[in-house]
Amino acid sequence: MLLADYHVHSVFSDGKDDIESIILTAIEKGLAEIGISDHSYTFFDNTYCIEKGKEKEYVAEVKRLKEKYVREIKVLCGTELDAFSDIDLSRYDYSIGSSHYFKRGDKYYPIDENREKFVNAVEEVFGGDFYAACEEYFSTVAKFALNEKVGIIGHFDLVTKFNGQGDLFDEENERYVKAYTSAVKTLVAAGKTFEINTGALRKGLRKDAYPAARIRKLIKDQGGKFILSSDSHRKEDLTFGFSLYEKEL
Ligand SMILES: [Zn+2]
Ligand SMILES: [Zn+2]
Repeated sequence: MLLADYHVHSVFSDGKDDIESIILTAIEKGLAEIGISDHSYTFFDNTYCIEKGKEKEYVAEVKRLKEKYVREIKVLCGTELDAFSDIDLSRYDYSIGSSHYFKRGDKYYPIDENREKFVNAVEEVFGGDFYAACEEYFSTVAKFALNEKVGIIGHFDLVTKFNGQGDLFDEENERYVKAYTSAVKTLVAAGKTFEINTGALRKGLRKDAYPAARIRKLIKDQGGKFILSSDSHRKEDLTFGFSLYEKEL
């Protein structure tokens, strides 16, 4: 298997390390390929993403390092595109499509920032109906099927981040299952690749990667493909937990 990690954040967005030290760690860890995928600029929330106007500098820095380390590792310049981010993707080698917000009018409510904000958003936007929130979340994710520049679907069931062992809603509920099944079918039919994302596993928030085992099985049964990704924000977390999921590729 080609050891590679394509979901990696640097100081250009909310990661802790500069791109060069990430690449050096990837070389040390024996990776054949590394993709840097900082958060695309989102006009309504610039607390965690690449600053407006900094994309050029970001792409130039990855290109410089791509050339510098060409003999040791293949470096790709990507971005993690939020569903509500409207940026030009043509400068990137690849894009990961991820949904991080609910939108009502001109307000955006973060899904994955913390449990309290998530619960409040479901209360305010959906009157406390978690299934309605999940239906809207998965229909937003499914829209990446229409974007041909998005090849990879990021943390497909992010909406379960604070659900623990079903604390907020039942992941076997018919409405929930219907919502993710429809999104999986649409995205597989459009040829998208899904991540097995070990980010929340690392943080101890979940006991399994995104998406959950039963969703991975559905994706596989539908003929969908996976890549492994760490969603790392620190260089030492590159390839975290990959050995647990290699056999599923
Ligand atoms: Zn994300
Ligand atoms: Zn990420």
